[in-house]
This record gives sequence, structure tokens and C-alpha cells, in this order.
Amino acid sequence: LQTHSLSHSLQAKMSRPVQARRLEGIDKNIWVEFVKLAATYSKVNLGQGFPDFPAPDFLTEALSRALGGGNHMLHQYTRAFGHPPLVKVLAQFFEKLLGRDLDPMTNVMVTVGAYQALFCCFQALVDEGDEVIIIEPFFDCYEPMVKMAGGTPVFVPLRPNPPKDGKLMSSADWQLDAAELASKFSERTKAIVLNSPNNPLGKVFSRGELGLIAELCVKHDVLCISDEVYEWLVYDGKQHIRIASLEGMWERTVIVGSAGKTFSATGWKVGWVVGPDRLLKHLRTVHQNSVYHCATIAQEAVAQGFQRELMLYGKPESYFVQLPKELQQKRDWLVQSLDGVGMKPIIPEGTYFLVADISQFKSDVPDVPDSDEPYDYRFTKWMVKNKGLAAIPLSAFYSEAHKNNYTNFIRFCFAKEEATLKAANDILQKWKQEKTSS
Ligand code: PMP
Repeated sequence: LQTHSLSHSLQAKMSRPVQARRLEGIDKNIWVEFVKLAATYSKVNLGQGFPDFPAPDFLTEALSRALGGGNHMLHQYTRAFGHPPLVKVLAQFFEKLLGRDLDPMTNVMVTVGAYQALFCCFQALVDEGDEVIIIEPFFDCYEPMVKMAGGTPVFVPLRPNPPKDGKLMSSADWQLDAAELASKFSERTKAIVLNSPNNPLGKVFSRGELGLIAELCVKHDVLCISDEVYEWLVYDGKQHIRIASLEGMWERTVIVGSAGKTFSATGWKVGWVVGPDRLLKHLRTVHQNSVYHCATIAQEAVAQGFQRELMLYGKPESYFVQLPKELQQKRDWLVQSLDGVGMKPIIPEGTYFLVADISQFKSDVPDVPDSDEPYDYRFTKWMVKNKGLAAIPLSAFYSEAHKNNYTNFIRFCFAKEEATLKAANDILQKWKQEKTSS
């Protein structure tokens, strides 16, 4: 009897919720689910955004040198807010890009990838009850991160305007409606998240579009979290414009960057923020009380990578010049391949992603009416299981309320070896043939 009552009381104690309220409704994660599916089923993985080609030699050689170069202190802790050589070279680099003087100790902070940079931004700048404007489609983590900080995400969509002449759509055809955007700003608005070049569409915001956002930020005294991790991946001679360089914006903008995207080394998880001390000092508070700092040796190698790029700035040998050239060819190749089978691509102006229309393939994967799962999720899962080709459903980049308006598209990553892109093309061609002959 005694044992029984003891186990009863233990059970009673365990029935209390263990998780914090801030985790409610944010437990699902598209990457966890689709990375596992790709690992299990894919023969060709154009899903998650990472290159399958090697990082540049100068970067991996810098890491080898750091490991074997006799400076054993590179295996120890470094400065919390960034290894000094890295913050120094980042400050020098961004001085050039922004045309203003920067203090490496107060205007730059190194983070564990851009992911942690974003986390620091939301935790440091967003309070209970604050609204944060997010432009749809968006890199999915913005929404749970705003919610975890106690804020309320307010969504505003990029609206597609397909060209009338039957040409392929471009990411530039997805635009904000100026009046709709303005209507989202109020005295509750604390910040807007801008992601240009945009994941998943590849849209590179024009000077006019950035000007409109900047004007509203200044008018309503709103901060801008500017996720620029794809800053070097811009095509067709387009230019990436930094919103922080627009009038009135430096003081209210945090720029987020990623060595993973910049140097094709996503596994290193080195990121940074650049911005005014009045904002960064609060990000430092979050950082010092969470991860404290990111791996010293990776920061040392990334610092050397930037030193090289600073020397070669704008020259043909620069990685920041070469990488977009190579990726533009890969983009054109995948565009052609998808267009050839009728999976209409939206031509991206930047990033290494491409969104394609699956309407012509829908007969193979019938819809299940009243299902909770958006159609593009079902399609993408079917495709990886039955065709071995992994992609990501576009509606994953939309809020719950708007998901169901965008279930005809999937996202591919084209930062891949020629052989990988060719293998994807073979799968698509074969699929198309099977469709025509059945
Ligand atoms: N922002 C955007 C828009 C991204 O696409 C990604 C990575 N997919 C990140 C931030 C995170 O970058 P990191 O790998 O450096 O954490």
C-alpha cells in the first residue's frame, strides 16, 4: 500500500507542465523534419541551403595554419564579443561598404552563425507586447524568435505580379504594396525584419523599395533588423544596397551576416552583427549571458579569409566576385532544366535559392481535401520518397494565416556541384517522360 501511494504521489508531481509558456506553439521546425526526410530518402538533395562544393582553399588553409601554427592560445577562450582579429577586419570591411568609421569593439559583434545573431536581436530589442513586421515569404525562424521574446509578429506579403508577355517570372515581380506596408506601422511597432537578398525568393530589394521601408522606419521610430547573409550572392550586375546606408537608418539598423554563406562553410557557424553601439550594447548583454563566444579557431580562420578579401576587394580573383559568377551559371542551368520540364521557375536576382511552380505536376500527387497539411508539404514529401529529389515547400516560409495561399511552389537550392544539378535534371526529365507516356 505504501509503495502504491508513493508512486501515486510521484505521478501527481509529474503531471505538471514542464515546458515554459514561451515554447507553446513553436515546437515544429521545418528543417528538423525535412533534413531527416532528405537524409532518409534523397538521391539528390536540393533542399536545405548549403553548398555541396568545397569551401575555398584559402579558408581551409587558414584553418589548418591556425591549428598547426604553434599559437596554442587559439584553442582557448577569446574575447566574448568577437576574436579581436575578426572584429577588426570586419570593421575595416564594413567601413568600406557603408562609407563610415566603425569601432571594432562596439560596432561589431561575432555570433554563432547568423542564427544566433538574429536571436540576440530579438531578445535584446523586442519586449512583451511589441509588434515586429515580417515581410512574407520569410526565413522561418523570425516568427518563433519574435514570439519567444514576447513580441507579436505582423506579416506583410510580397505580392506576385506575373509578367503579361508569357515570360518567366522574376523575383523582382514580387513586390510590397506601399499602402499595405504603411498600414502595418503603428505606435506598437518596435522593429521590421528585412531580408535582402531574400530567402526563399531570391528577391533583391531595389533602392526605391528600401527607401520606402526606411521612410516608414524613420517616421514611426522603428528599428530594422537587416538580415543580409546573402549580400555577396547577387546576379545579372544587380547591386546589393544596404539599408543602413540610407538616410536616418544607421542609428536604427542592425546588419546580420554569416561566414557560412559568405565563404561557403555553413558548418563553421560564424556570424556577426554590425550596427550602432546604442543597439549593439544590448545585443552584447544577451550574448554574454547565453553563448558567451563562438569557437576561437573558426573566428581566426574567418578573419584571415576577410583579410584576403579586403586585399582583393573588387578584383577578379576575389571570392566575393568569383562565387556569384559561378552561382549565376548554376542558377541559369537549373532555370533551364526546370523550364524544360514545365516546373516553371521564378528567376532569382540573388541568393542560392530558386522557387518553382509545381502546378503542372499536381496530377501525380493528388490533394487530400480537409487535410491539415499544406499541399506543397505533401508534394515535397512525395517527391523525395518517390523520386529521390529533395526540396522545401514554399508555404514553410509563410505564417499560419497565409500558408494556404502559397501551396503551388517549392524551393530548390542550387549551390551544388554540376554533377548534383545534372542528377536533378535527370530525375526531372525522366519524371516528365513518364507523365507524357502515361
Ligand atoms: N538568415 C537567413 C536568411 C538564412 O537563410 C540563414 C541560413 N539558412 C540564416 C540567417 C542563418 O545563417 P547561419 O547558418 O550563419 O546561422
